[in-house]
Amino acid sequence: MQGWKEKPPEDAWQAPAGVDEAVMIDPTTGWIAGEWCPARKLEYFKPGLGPRTECMEHGPPYDQQPEWGEPDWADKVEDEADNLGKRIEKALGRIFR
Ligand SMILES: [Zn+2]
Repeated sequence: MQGWKEKPPEDAWQAPAGVDEAVMIDPTTGWIAGEWCPARKLEYFKPGLGPRTECMEHGPPYDQQPEWGEPDWADKVEDEADNLGKRIEKALGRIFR
């Protein structure tokens, strides 16, 4: 009696030896993939060496503020949506005048 448990099936993928911490990361930042990350990838890290920070690069869509957005614009998204067309017209008018 050696006490070995059943071997896993031959076709089961196994992490390389010494690498046993699986973390879903955002491959574009290397941080832990968050809810809004456009890409995510399961990566294997040595114990304790995986990322500990959740991705701060990608947030909810309202984080994608226009360059001219006011800091409080998230509170009035609908107003901004109404104004956006006018502001773009105005900006384009400035460029193409
Ligand atoms: Zn991300």
